[in-house]
Formats: sequence, structure tokens, C-alpha cells
Amino acid sequence: MEVFDHEGHGPRVVFGAGAFAQVPAEAGRLGLRRVLLIAGRHEKPHADALASALAPAGRIEDVIGHVPADTAAAGVRAAESAGADLLVCVGGGSATGLAKAIAKETGTAILAVPTTYAGSELTPVWGLTADGRKTTGSDPRVLPRVVVYDPELTVSLPAGVSAASGMNAIAHAAEALYAADAAPETKSRAEEGIGILAAALPAVVARPGDLPARTAALRGAWRCGAALAGATMGIHHTICHVLGGAYGLPHAETHAALLPHAVARTEAFAPAAMSRLAAALGAARDPAKALWDLTARLGAPTSLAQLGFRHEDVDDAADLVVAAAAKKGLAGPRPVEREWVADLLLEAWDGARPRDS
Ligand code: NAD
Repeated sequence: MEVFDHEGHGPRVVFGAGAFAQVPAEAGRLGLRRVLLIAGRHEKPHADALASALAPAGRIEDVIGHVPADTAAAGVRAAESAGADLLVCVGGGSATGLAKAIAKETGTAILAVPTTYAGSELTPVWGLTADGRKTTGSDPRVLPRVVVYDPELTVSLPAGVSAASGMNAIAHAAEALYAADAAPETKSRAEEGIGILAAALPAVVARPGDLPARTAALRGAWRCGAALAGATMGIHHTICHVLGGAYGLPHAETHAALLPHAVARTEAFAPAAMSRLAAALGAARDPAKALWDLTARLGAPTSLAQLGFRHEDVDDAADLVVAAAAKKGLAGPRPVEREWVADLLLEAWDGARPRDS
């Protein structure tokens, strides 16, 4: 018999090609006028277009991955000096992350316009990096009030970034399938998101300007982000945070390279979830291999070595992962032990297709 609890209060979502034009109206709908516009270098053309309609009280163009603490502090000062009552962030998880870091301190509302498949816009989870360590936490104040998804904004996302970012989204959903606290609704979202992305990403990578494929991928990412919001992430996300915070590895690419190996090492401990994961990927079984095959087909990184992670750092990284898992109280599905975590890191460093377990 199923027993679960589920809280379903996400942001208002406006989705579709051309939805970007509705951002000023959505800001007005919130009744908020003093906008701090946050967008990095690649998203500048979109932010410029928005600036003429929104007349922002301030702008931040310095967006850095993994939200360094000093960047966040500068963002808080910018919000305060602009007297901002709304943060509008245009970009990937890094832009959303900076908005969240500001909202965490100031309580300012967020309107997010995601341009990657990261999914941060749907969660109350913030992340900050200081002294080589990434800290994450949950705070309802950082959950955006409105999310505007416009697939036209994702057309410029290079094929390689799209592939890695899509695998990042799939990683959220994969871990939601074996999370102890994920309600059936969350698992359904996860399966749906994986299925949509697994079908759409090859077309996105082959033809980055294919708007129907981009639309499907963004919808899949939305489903995976919703799954992320409804579940506590497991060993895979813990390792990715350690590798990003302590070794500066790129977020989405690390997810892509690690996921097949994290799933391979967890498979035997969550058989029902793994059957669902395989089915969502269109495979009869062996979800770890299916994930590796999809990653390779998309041309996304398949090894941590490719990303600059060094063999000699495996042992220290395993220690950091075990400490981070203990700090979070990470329970399962496989009890975290240093030996298999180190093996997993070694396999992901090498990046070969997972073997039969
Ligand atoms: P990112 O935001 O750093 O974007 C990757 C690169 O793509 C950047 O150079 C960016 O400028 C560029 N880019 C983004 N959109 C583009 C577009 N449409 N066209 C051209 N270039 C574009 O990377 P990401 O993977 O989206 O986000 C990673 C960050 O998000 C990490 O810090 C991660 O921890 C965080 N994150 C947080 C959560 C959460 O729930 N808190 C969830 C997922 C990710």
C-alpha cells in the first residue's frame, strides 16, 4: 500500500515560443516595479531587449558558475542600492542561482527566464561556493514566483551545452525515481521528463535551431525540474556538488559524465526505480548502460578525466563525498561507504561504458 505526502506549490509557469514577450506583463501582474535584471554575457541580447521594456532600476552582468560568495554579496548590495522589489534573471542555473542567493538575504521576489535545462527555477534550493566548498540549503524565499519558459531563447544554446544540460535534467529525474521521499506524482513527472528529453535531445544536438525539438526539450526539462523540486537528491548530486565546489568541474558536464556510473553503483539497491528509469529511457533493462549510450550519442562528456579531474584526486574526493553525505544525512538507497564511492569515482574518471554488475 502506498503512503506518501506531497506539497505541490510551484511557481506560476508561462510556457511557449514567444513567451519572453510576456515578461513585462508578468512583472506587472506581480505588482512589482523596481527590477534588478540579472543576465550573463551570453544572455545579454535578451536582457537588452528586456531592459527597454522594463526600465530596470539596476543590472548585473557578472554571472559566475556555482555562485561564489563574493559575487552573491555584491548582488545583495546591488539589489539594496537599486531598492529592488523584483529580481528578473535570464540565463541558466548560474543566473538563477545568483538571483536565489540575493533573495535568500533580501527576500526579494524572483521572476526566472531559464535558457538551459538546469531546472533550478523550480526549486527552493540555493547554492553558494566559498573556500572551495559548495554549500546548499533550502529556503522558500528563493523559489521564483513566476517562470517564463521560451524555447526560442534556447536555440542559441550550443549543441554541446544543450547535451550536457539535458543530461543534468535527466539526472534530477533519475535520482527522484529512487528518492525515499518522492511521492508517486513526483515519480510520474520524472518518468515523463526523462522520456521527453531522451527523445528530443538527439534532434536538438543534430539541429540546434529545430524549434519543435527545442520546445520538447524545454518541456522535458520542466518536468525533470519539477521532479527535482519534489525529492531529496542522492549520491549522484552529492558527488557533483563536491566536484564542482572543490575541483571547479563544470556543473552540467559533470552530471553527464557521472550519472551512468552513479546509477550503475545504485542499481541493485533500487530495482523497481531502475526498471522505471530503463523504461523511461526506452530500454528493456540496464539503465546505466542506456544512460551512457545516450550521453555518448549526444557527444556529451563521458569521463571525468575529460573534464580535467585528476586520477590522484580520487581518494580525497571520496573523503569529501562521504563527509558531505554524512552532513546531509544522506540515507539511501545504498548506504554511503567510502570504498564504493571511490570505485564509482574511479569508474567515472575512466568513463568506460558500465559493465554488468
Ligand atoms: P550556466 O548557467 O552556467 O550556463 C552554462 C553556459 O551556457 C554559460 O556560459 C551561459 O552563459 C551559457 N548559456 C546559457 N543559456 C544560453 C543560451 N540560451 N544561449 C547561449 N549560451 C547560453 O549552467 P547551468 O548548467 O544552466 O547551471 C549550473 C548552475 O546551476 C550550477 O551552479 C548548479 O549548481 C545550479 N543548479 C542549481 C539547482 C538548484 O535547484 N538549486 C538546480 C540545477 C542547477
